[in-house]
Amino acid sequence: MQCELLETCGFFKEYQGTLDLACRGFIKTYCKGPQMNECRRKEYRQAHGKPPVTEMMPNGQTMPKEYRKND
Ligand code: SF4
Repeated sequence: MQCELLETCGFFKEYQGTLDLACRGFIKTYCKGPQMNECRRKEYRQAHGKPPVTEMMPNGQTMPKEYRKND
């Protein structure tokens, strides 16, 4: 069971290898888990016809600066 957007999702691509526990939790719960259809990134993509910024997390909040990979 995994999200159908896994291959193209910026968040997943960027953070799939992270060791951060909170982030791993999101991936486990949303990207590869029961809440995949409640993902705010997915919602955004459907509403806007394009993916959100990479730093938007599945719960719709922005990744805190200290956890970002590109800052
Ligand atoms: S963040 Fe959302 S859209 Fe991206 S792979 Fe995970 S569940 Fe799918």
